[in-house]
Amino acid sequence: MQQNSSTIDAYLALLKQLDTFQKRVLARYGKAIACRRGCSSCCILETVFPIEAWYVEHALGKLSNTALQALARQIKKARSGECVLLVRNQCLIYKQRPIICRTHGLPLIIEGKIDFCDKNFKGVSSLDGQSILDLEKTTMVLAAINLRFLKEKKSATQTSGRVALREIVDKFI
Ligand code: SF4
Repeated sequence: MQQNSSTIDAYLALLKQLDTFQKRVLARYGKAIACRRGCSSCCILETVFPIEAWYVEHALGKLSNTALQALARQIKKARSGECVLLVRNQCLIYKQRPIICRTHGLPLIIEGKIDFCDKNFKGVSSLDGQSILDLEKTTMVLAAINLRFLKEKKSATQTSGRVALREIVDKFI
């Protein structure tokens, strides 16, 4: 990784924070969470912030030729609206997946309301506050890290833009 390490460290710390949050929710409500390997209902991501694009590109760069060939084959038959990184119903870069993907299925506050996948939390009448993520706050932290990243890259063109995952994938297939 050749970017400023403190900015990258801040991004990696945010990823870790979300993984810790996910573990906490699973420990508390695991039986009420239907998310399983192979369920890809939430995998409709199309664009990411430039810092995430950089990390996705880094992850794709580490994949084997076999995995990239599978990706190239999958792209040809992908359903509309499906994330381009979904191969045989599994995320090709799961360990390096973007921030939003780490919140899939979990309780989120969005525009003041609690939201989660309707397959989850069946029979749970209330959720403890520690198990609800404020998505807007998380996005603000990510946006601030992204801005630092862009300043370091001196990228004037991408300041407000997002990057299409397909654009990143196309560099590898
Ligand atoms: S990056 Fe991975 S986890 Fe995120 S939407 Fe795409 S396939 Fe799903």
